[in-house]
Amino acid sequence: MRWDTRWLCHVLRSTLHMSSAPVILHADMDAFYASVEQRDRPELKGRPVVVGGKPPRGVISAASYEARRFGVHSAMPAIEAQRRCPDAVFLSGDMAKYGRESKKIRAVFEEFSPDIEPLSLDEAFIDVTATMRALRAESPLEVGRRLKERVREETDLVVSVGIAPVKMVAKIASDLSKPDGLLQVEPGGVREFLAPLPISRLWGVGAVTEERMRLRGLLTIGDLAQLDGGAVATSLRGLWHLARGEDVRSVDRDREARSYGEENTFAVDVADDQILSDVIGQHADAVARRLRRDGVFARVVRLKVKSTEKLARPGKYRAYTRQLTLPESTDDGVTLADAARRLLRDGELPRPIRLVGVTAAGIHTPDRGAGRQLSIFDAPSTRALNEALDHIANRHGRDAVRRGVGKADRASLTSQIKRGD
Ligand SMILES: [Mg+2]
Repeated sequence: MRWDTRWLCHVLRSTLHMSSAPVILHADMDAFYASVEQRDRPELKGRPVVVGGKPPRGVISAASYEARRFGVHSAMPAIEAQRRCPDAVFLSGDMAKYGRESKKIRAVFEEFSPDIEPLSLDEAFIDVTATMRALRAESPLEVGRRLKERVREETDLVVSVGIAPVKMVAKIASDLSKPDGLLQVEPGGVREFLAPLPISRLWGVGAVTEERMRLRGLLTIGDLAQLDGGAVATSLRGLWHLARGEDVRSVDRDREARSYGEENTFAVDVADDQILSDVIGQHADAVARRLRRDGVFARVVRLKVKSTEKLARPGKYRAYTRQLTLPESTDDGVTLADAARRLLRDGELPRPIRLVGVTAAGIHTPDRGAGRQLSIFDAPSTRALNEALDHIANRHGRDAVRRGVGKADRASLTSQIKRGD
């Protein structure tokens, strides 16, 4: 075959296409509940509208931009909102109606990609990397513009859209662009975009971590990003990657879009770390068994706990997620458990705990990507033990196999096991 110009162009184009960065949209409705009310009741247009529980005991779930100007925001006690903005119209809201609107919005998102990760009624990640061509869009910005247009056509509501190669960055972009925003962070500009932002913007940085970082002189995301990787503690490694715009959840192209998780709610809240450690071990074993069954390995371990702190929404409790990236991929339960226990120990998590869960993510098959290197942790005895455990579990059920279970049984697990979330 002759290497004429046309052929070369074709090769170049397909190479560019294959290596192009992910295009992830974060779409988030502006002041969703309040906007729906303003749309349906024109007399409320331009007025401060607050949806949620009413004063004196209620808590706010949404505030229109007119109300936000007075410093009113969601999760604020209604009585405080009333003090700041006495003219606000308080509405108790209509969840059924918001649910119907949410369905319409979701249908619009689906016009753009099947790869959607909803975060709430009015917010979702939409990965259009694979559909850019089918959409015949010239640029990610054009996709964003069209999405905004379609949402407005279908619902007469406004959505803000952030676009980036990394989920967290797309979410920050939509947030910074509000109201009626559209903001793209180009793949080459991610670190520059993140650098000046306060460190609390990073996913997983709560008040305690923020204070710890501040004491070390780390005030902005850029401060953390420029640290030498070797100097970063293991428990902070995930944050350090995020600060550099390297989000394992979207950058690792070999990753399959799934994770393996097991979790349980306790019948009685648990503060005893020995019990938590035992339960983490059981979850990790169950997760590892499923990894081995599917012949895959995990690079990321995530620990989720739910505290006893109630949130404004009825039946909701504050949840915390901590994760770390393992030095090497694994399908071994002990390795997963060790990592999850380290997250429990170092993660600045509250006690007592209502729920604990272990998830393995960053999943890949050994024959894909860079290939998996055998590690020293993969001693033949470990593999043999795991094979034996799998054999017993397959024959006699998972409860037949529990390593070092002690007091955990007495914690009365309620089974809320999520499979293949
Ligand atoms: Mg919203």
